[in-house]
Amino acid sequence: MNFEQLYSPNPNFSNRYISPEKLFSYLQTNLSDYVQEIGRSYLDKPIYQLSIGTGAINVLAWSQMHGNESNASHAMLDLLETLDKAPEMKEDLFSKIRLDFIFMLNPDGSERWTRLNAADIDLNRDFHNESSTEIKFLKKAVALKKYDYALNLHEQRTIFTTDGVHPATLSFLAPSENEERAITDNRKKCMAVIGSIYDHLKELIPNQIGRYSDEFYPTSTGDNFIKSGMPTILFEGGHFIDDYTRKGTRKYYTIALYYALKAISELNSDTEGWEKYLEIPENQETHYDIIYRNVKLNTDHECILDVAVQYREIMKEGQDEISFVPFVMEVGDVKKRKGWLEIDCTGKKFVAATKYPKLDAPAEFTIED
Ligand SMILES: [Zn+2]
Repeated sequence: MNFEQLYSPNPNFSNRYISPEKLFSYLQTNLSDYVQEIGRSYLDKPIYQLSIGTGAINVLAWSQMHGNESNASHAMLDLLETLDKAPEMKEDLFSKIRLDFIFMLNPDGSERWTRLNAADIDLNRDFHNESSTEIKFLKKAVALKKYDYALNLHEQRTIFTTDGVHPATLSFLAPSENEERAITDNRKKCMAVIGSIYDHLKELIPNQIGRYSDEFYPTSTGDNFIKSGMPTILFEGGHFIDDYTRKGTRKYYTIALYYALKAISELNSDTEGWEKYLEIPENQETHYDIIYRNVKLNTDHECILDVAVQYREIMKEGQDEISFVPFVMEVGDVKKRKGWLEIDCTGKKFVAATKYPKLDAPAEFTIED
């Protein structure tokens, strides 16, 4: 059996939300031989690194640098869960590589389900300023060892598709080192790995794999790490149809993580096959979560328009899963975009306390017959 047939999600973490406390206790109980604390967050939560493997190829990965992106933490837990069922596969992989995996680089943001850390800093734009506590620990980890590869693990919004129709369930990037976006040797190393992941997954999730924009971001983590000589691959988990808790994404993210590590163990810094990366379609920004079409407002003159709505993910106190709150993003002619859900309101009534749906506010209206 291959990895995707063996895939088993870790049953202790079935929600999209991962409580840092629960994760830390799980790591201490089940993986204490492999984890060490490498630092503390702004609010004094521990940041753990799990180290596994005896191989000569050194790989660094980190999850939840943005707190509201739990897919990669799940993927690492699921990878271990799955490989426990396939000892030979596990041995084969981890005899070639050594993986240092930092769980929840931003535990405060993970607790509150926010992109930013507790001091409202985006760790992924803090490379030079180092105004966040957490980015220093990541840079310190990089300074301690010469890594052959790094995996910068993220999630993206539901707005992205690969072709205007299919969601970008997974997107990858070999980040640019300069504004000219030159294809350097280190970028080719990343592209070769991504090309191999693409080969393994394109049949499993056809048309659902995209290439993230390679615009150079001077303050971002991946761009600076690759510029400083460490090949750094960006992963982005995205939308999966009818699956806002991203269980499907989580599965394919795990499979992608496995094939990334496998490709790294086989390529060992070779760039063979890098051109395949260029076959991957580029991400397009084409969708909203919901578009209400032909909404007739309660105005004196006839006014018919579209209302585009996007869910905001909110962690409510005392809950163990995030909530999805619809927000109005655009009102007017939204023909250039599509909705994952399209609702035709022709001949129906728009019922709300206000005449117009308010932008950037919760969608507090109903559509009635
Ligand atoms: Zn992110």
